[in-house]
Amino acid sequence: MSENKVVTRFAPSPTGFPHLGNFRTAIFAYLFAKKHNGSFVFRIEDTDKERSKKEFEENIIEGLDWLGLSYDKFYRQSENAGRHKFYLEKMIKEGNAYISKEEAKDGSGAMKELVRFKNPNINVTFKDEIKGEVTMNTEDLGDFIIAKNLNEPLFHLAVVVDDFEEGITHVIRGEDHVSNTSRQILIQRAIGATTPIYAHLPLVLGPDKLKLSKRRGALAVTEYKKLGFLPEAVLNGATFIGWNPGTEKEIFSREELIASFDLERVQKSPAIFNQEKLEWFNKEHMKLLSSGEINKNVLEQLPENMRNPKLVPIIFERISKWSDVKSMVAKGELDFFFKSPVIDKAKLIYKKTSSEKINQNLKLAIKALESISENDFNTEIIKITLMSIADNLESRGELLHPVRFALSGLDKSPDPFIIASIIGKNETLSRLQKAI
Ligand code: GLU
Repeated sequence: MSENKVVTRFAPSPTGFPHLGNFRTAIFAYLFAKKHNGSFVFRIEDTDKERSKKEFEENIIEGLDWLGLSYDKFYRQSENAGRHKFYLEKMIKEGNAYISKEEAKDGSGAMKELVRFKNPNINVTFKDEIKGEVTMNTEDLGDFIIAKNLNEPLFHLAVVVDDFEEGITHVIRGEDHVSNTSRQILIQRAIGATTPIYAHLPLVLGPDKLKLSKRRGALAVTEYKKLGFLPEAVLNGATFIGWNPGTEKEIFSREELIASFDLERVQKSPAIFNQEKLEWFNKEHMKLLSSGEINKNVLEQLPENMRNPKLVPIIFERISKWSDVKSMVAKGELDFFFKSPVIDKAKLIYKKTSSEKINQNLKLAIKALESISENDFNTEIIKITLMSIADNLESRGELLHPVRFALSGLDKSPDPFIIASIIGKNETLSRLQKAI
């Protein structure tokens, strides 16, 4: 690493709602800068006036803020128009660019002026931290266009001028920009700018091995915020898209990511983004929260009449993001805690056990539970009480299955002890009686 201070940038065009694969570029640039005590510049590349939209810009800013990718400088490329013009004029004066009068491509026969770069037609070699040394022939590019006119620079010129003026040392960006690099280096040489170190990140694919895109299900980063993901989990999960620390450790805090991140361990093959894995990261980070935070978040998602703190552990076990609580409520998965379920009688039967035997076991359960005082009617004691009966049967399921099913009416539900303790003694006895 040179002694120069590291300066990286994230330079999105506000022409859409970026998904997590796009944000990974920002994350890597941020982590790399922080790791080297450098700075991280955030530049909105709004030179394409027609496709750039305020709402996209706002969405990108919201995404960065939510992920905590704090930047040391923010500006819009359009604010630098004066500098772009300065360098265009300088290049023209020095013979590295020229104004060309050409027929407009719209078929109108009108003439218009363009600024073309005077291509020296040489091989350009640059160092890429991920791809190694890359050499590109520039002959095929011809005298490419760098501006529509002196006041309307195009992408390549604007990027080069801005990166130069900001002292960007490392350009970390998507692989789709490799083919742009030779043009940009030619412009750098023409204006006397240094060439930064490049790191072109391999593509991000979905689990189907096709390029990740919004059209094929990838979510905008801000959607994760809406769904109740934890930003630190999304940061962690996104960093693992095509990067790994070289150890088994997967759950990292922001500080740990900064300390561990390096470009050497960015994988060279395309990275796969998997929504399920992201949910796994989220759940692992949720488990790190204090019980107070978990309680607060789960209860907040419940309708007021369902806010029973006793439900929190049961719900927490079954969710991987806060909005899952709302889905559980919507699907009626918690209803049986609040009202007696309608029972499908046939489902009370356990395997080949006869209905007489099931009835008999339910009666035993009622008798045993009746003997527990209201005050002692908690999960532990209920469990000990029911297990002492179940353990004497051929199979525990002969008792535990009908009791659980009588209480919940669902094929899948928490164990009967916890349900009984939550709905209370009277309601438990009444549901068991009803099942008989
Ligand atoms: N504005 C470009 C884009 O959104 C990125 C430019 C760059 O990183 O050099 O794809």
